[in-house]
Amino acid sequence: MKKQYEKETICVQSGWQPKNGEPRVLPIYQSTTFKYETSEQMGRLFDLEEAGYFYTRLQNPTNDYVAAKICELEGGVAAMLTSSGQAANYYAVFNICEAGDHVVLSSTVYGGTFNLLTCTMKKMGIECTVVDPDDDEETLSRAFQRNTKCVLAETIANPALVVLDIEKFARLAHSHQVPLIIDNTFATPINCNPFVWGADIVTHSTTKYMDGHAMTVGGCIVDSGNFDWAAYPEKFPGLCTPDESYHGITYTEKFGKAAYITKATSQLMRDLGSIQAPQNAFLLNVGLETLPLRMERHCYNAQKTAEYLEAHEKVAWVNYPGLRSNKYYELARKYMPNGSCGVISFGLKGGRKAAAEMMDKLKLAAIVTHVADARTCVLHPASHTHRQMNDEQLKEAGVAPDLIRLSVGIENIGDILADLEQALAQAD
Ligand code: PLP
Repeated sequence: MKKQYEKETICVQSGWQPKNGEPRVLPIYQSTTFKYETSEQMGRLFDLEEAGYFYTRLQNPTNDYVAAKICELEGGVAAMLTSSGQAANYYAVFNICEAGDHVVLSSTVYGGTFNLLTCTMKKMGIECTVVDPDDDEETLSRAFQRNTKCVLAETIANPALVVLDIEKFARLAHSHQVPLIIDNTFATPINCNPFVWGADIVTHSTTKYMDGHAMTVGGCIVDSGNFDWAAYPEKFPGLCTPDESYHGITYTEKFGKAAYITKATSQLMRDLGSIQAPQNAFLLNVGLETLPLRMERHCYNAQKTAEYLEAHEKVAWVNYPGLRSNKYYELARKYMPNGSCGVISFGLKGGRKAAAEMMDKLKLAAIVTHVADARTCVLHPASHTHRQMNDEQLKEAGVAPDLIRLSVGIENIGDILADLEQALAQAD
């Protein structure tokens, strides 16, 4: 489908385009393999001489129709689904980095991403320098090295809710001849399109708002097609020099703007796996259909909740980019004029102990290791998702020990506030 519709329409109508007599709803291609008439035809697929499906570890039609929808929502040229958001961030970086390379990483990224880059990928020989995203450009520039291959940051950081100055980061990355990779999970393409502001690659944990119902773990990588890999062949040999595992194909020469996603699909998926199950892609597609409606409600409910908490006598502080008092209010208005996300963080005057007491008293909001789905939920990152970090790392990530992360759902706002009211009344 050509880019002729608004996002609400894309969410419902894009991706699967049934021909005459075909199913109206995206079919689940529940098949590991695909049949061909001749052995030569199959051989051409293995040489990447012809496009087509042969094995679901690399590609599956259901996944690709859903990836195409997300690609259109982000305004990219190519996209792929992965089995999780973790896999998306891993592949997005590993597709252009190898042992001996270096990454510039925002300190406020999700704990899992922080761990992936600073521990696991370090063991693979890929180093990273962690930077404070609020630092000025001169300071941030010092983090870059001769072997730096990319910059990775989040539009709205989970759970610190730091709003990234995307234009500043794009300028920095490009002045050092590397792409900017943005994890756009919290904002979703409904509230922000990082490509418009200069980002080159976008990743998502589709597990969150995109699925929206807490049913499937998944991820997505979208390429803007704007980064000119071929201009820096010595920096990106994986894309710009022959791939021996594909009989000497050079991705940038053969696939042009689709080079990055083609390499990630045909090389990384082939060798490492991590494809999203077609069943999950099907459910993700159902979630995507209502994403704009849900984001609107999430943002409305979160704004009301943040204002309520800010006025509450037992609350010490509230962090939500939609509050005028918030440090990131202006940046959020610039990059996300229609609202940011449904996640709020706050602390109680009674500190960590009161936070645990309050959370235990909630009836509607459940304590779960999840965020950004239809049901209101709550988490204490220092004890749960970020427990691998020491106090210093927590501070750098913008996670105070007393921080409660509240993911505001799409229930009735009166019910959400009443639940908080009764729980706060019982906390010291
Ligand atoms: N990126 C962000 C911003 C996240 O919040 C998460 C998970 O919470 C991830 C990536 C990892 O995604 P997944 O849990 O789907 O692997």
